Amino acid sequence: MGGNDGRGPCPFSTPDGCSVYDQRPATCRYYPLGMVSMKMKDMETKEDFFFLVKEDHCQGHCESKSQNVGDYRTEQQLEEYERINRGWVDILMKMASWKVLGGPGGKEPSLQTKKMFFTATTDVDGFRAFVLGSRFLEAYDVSPEAVELIKASDDALLQLAFDWMKNVLFNEPTIMLKEQVLKEAIARVRTDMGAA
Ligand code: SF4
Repeated sequence: MGGNDGRGPCPFSTPDGCSVYDQRPATCRYYPLGMVSMKMKDMETKEDFFFLVKEDHCQGHCESKSQNVGDYRTEQQLEEYERINRGWVDILMKMASWKVLGGPGGKEPSLQTKKMFFTATTDVDGFRAFVLGSRFLEAYDVSPEAVELIKASDDALLQLAFDWMKNVLFNEPTIMLKEQVLKEAIARVRTDMGAA
């Protein structure tokens, strides 16, 4: 594997293997299983589908051991990691379906939005500094208790990141703009459109 920095495509990859193996994320724990989570037209909730990814470099396929998906998930301790990963999977699945079906206006998210997504979901320190140091908390309605939680807990911060991105990308009501900010935004749009 060869990335630009010579360390491979993942920054945790070393010549001796994964440097964060005990804490590796859910996607790495799943591999070589792939997972798709989708809600079909006539279903109430999302359903997970699994498939085997066959790549020559994966020696796991040479093992004689056979396992079902449930046992593999238990062995890989996926329950806890998946709880955290779920918001990320939801967003990626929705983006992928938009690509196929055409999202709002069939538009691809802008480069800035994509950068925002990767910072919010992969850079804990960077996103915390952004939330606490920018005008984010002046614009969004986040309770003082939630702010304290975000300062102390990476889980709470990541949940905020998912809620924010679902709002930015799909206009879901997962986080609300403060009333005054919303009024000003509506007034700006009306002015831009030439409305009285
Ligand atoms: S297992 Fe995952 S985190 Fe570890 S080096 Fe491979 S891709 Fe990176």
